[in-house]
Amino acid sequence: MPGKLLPLDQVQQWILKNCEALDPVVKPLSQCLGLVCAQDLYSDEDIPSFDNSAMDGYAVRTSDILTVPTKLEVVATIAAGSYPDFVLQANQAARIMTGAPIPQGSDAVVQRENTIEQDQSVIIESLPKIGDNIRHIGEDIKKGQMVFPKGSVLSPGHLGVLASIGIDQIKVFPRIRVGVLSSGDELVESGSFVNRGQIRDSNRKTLIGLLQQASFEAIDLGLVKDNEDEIYTAIKSGISRCDALITSGGVSVGDFDYIKTVLDKLANGTMRWMQIAIKPAKPLAFGLVENKPVFGLPGNPVSSMVSFELFARPSFRKMSGYDSNHLHRTKFIGIAQKDLNRKSDGKLHFMRVVVSYEDKIFKVHPSQGQSSHLLRSMAMSNALALLPDGKGIKQGQEVEVILLSQLEA
Ligand code: AMP
Ligand code: MG
Repeated sequence: MPGKLLPLDQVQQWILKNCEALDPVVKPLSQCLGLVCAQDLYSDEDIPSFDNSAMDGYAVRTSDILTVPTKLEVVATIAAGSYPDFVLQANQAARIMTGAPIPQGSDAVVQRENTIEQDQSVIIESLPKIGDNIRHIGEDIKKGQMVFPKGSVLSPGHLGVLASIGIDQIKVFPRIRVGVLSSGDELVESGSFVNRGQIRDSNRKTLIGLLQQASFEAIDLGLVKDNEDEIYTAIKSGISRCDALITSGGVSVGDFDYIKTVLDKLANGTMRWMQIAIKPAKPLAFGLVENKPVFGLPGNPVSSMVSFELFARPSFRKMSGYDSNHLHRTKFIGIAQKDLNRKSDGKLHFMRVVVSYEDKIFKVHPSQGQSSHLLRSMAMSNALALLPDGKGIKQGQEVEVILLSQLEA
């Protein structure tokens, strides 16, 4: 649709509609960090599975301690990992370690700091209440309870819970493999010497980093010249090894953009070359090659990063099993610390900013340099401010932002 600028949300929705979650697979827990669970998970056990002590101290019977101090006979020492096979009788106490099972007959633990230890006895110096310092069976998880629903994103905490209930493999949506290809006659490998007119390929490093940061698997498909055969071979080989592809460069209206010719050939009429009403990242191509999503991102380094954020990341999250409420980054409101100026041009602008949390507000500071080739200013920013069409946002006014990395202190 040449000449017509498409609204951002329309393009995002169309692309998402063309991306489907991959088929679930069973994986060991050790490979599941950051993946989305594809089944409801239930516990066959109570956690804790037995009443146990929350402190190092003395297991006692509260009915024996009506005043303090009270002296009790110490009849046993119970270590974590052992199991007491006796019943605590009147005026007896058992020395007990954190995590050790509570002996029958006992209904509280007095922490060691509130006791005086003697040879075969202990003086209790604080009045215990029933249940003090006892972690009860099933307090965290009840037998038969659903611990996590399908769609949960597996964090280190989730993995720990599953390990604790004896689950060591689960059905998850697989980690998607995304191939990253750079194209352009001016590009050389990042470690190389540059001749006049050449530049080093930075997009591949950035895009691979963005993929890895989002828990996707990145496959480096290398760098190709503006040459139809080379581009064709690289994309064919990428598609055979990956679930989706990202190319950068060659999607605007330049003379040597063979990416277009090749993708049009391979995508069976599904490829769309779009101009979107945003800045940066106006040009974007998307289509399906052998039913796999292919994103043609713009070559300008900042544009390719912003395109990744707005279009590729949400789509890859959908392919990874995320539900529709968790595809996009969260937006929130900050306060502009300076005028955030822009020109009126019919586009939504994404301004690079640094957001800090100070005095209980999110403060939004514009970064120096907003052109789409100024990658350093993108690297130094932690957020994008959304500036709707118009003249911008005045100092002190509210502005919507998308956080891309850690908040500044
Ligand atoms: P293109 O979209 O191919 O017309 O490229 C637009 C701009 O982005 C040009 O200045 C290119 O040199 C630059 N560019 C394209 N690909 C890369 C890359 N992989 N790394 C750094 N800059 C790039
Ligand atoms: Mg190019």
